[in-house]
Amino acid sequence: MADCIFCKIISGELKGDIVFQNEHLVAFRDINPQAPVHILIVPRKHIATLNDLTATDAAIISEMVLTAKKLAADEGVAEDGYRLVWNCNRGAGQTVFHIHLHLMGGRAFGWPPG
Ligand code: 5GP
Ligand code: ZN
Repeated sequence: MADCIFCKIISGELKGDIVFQNEHLVAFRDINPQAPVHILIVPRKHIATLNDLTATDAAIISEMVLTAKKLAADEGVAEDGYRLVWNCNRGAGQTVFHIHLHLMGGRAFGWPPG
């Protein structure tokens, strides 16, 4: 999609610190990390918000979670623990309207998140 920052990183028009990619998704480090490990897992397909998901997206959502699990292990945070976050719409803090899964680890996280 034309004005989407994540589509531009996926296409290579904008630089991203990419840690993993395949035909369905791209994972890159967050530009403003909130934890020592903060990676965004992003489908190549432009989907604006979680509200736009349909049953046809089930496979990519599943693959995003499994990729987060693998990257958590690769980054050495799997045993201590990590947090996966999806923000949907502005009220939840979504600022980039191309769905993404935040993988954060390497520090302690409180609950509730605030
Ligand atoms: P949201 O608030 O939408 O859940 O998360 C968007 C995330 O994208 C934020 O954590 C923000 O730091 C990150 N971000 C925004 N622009 C860029 C960018 O150009 N490159 C990278 N790597 N991350 C970005
Ligand atoms: Zn996009």
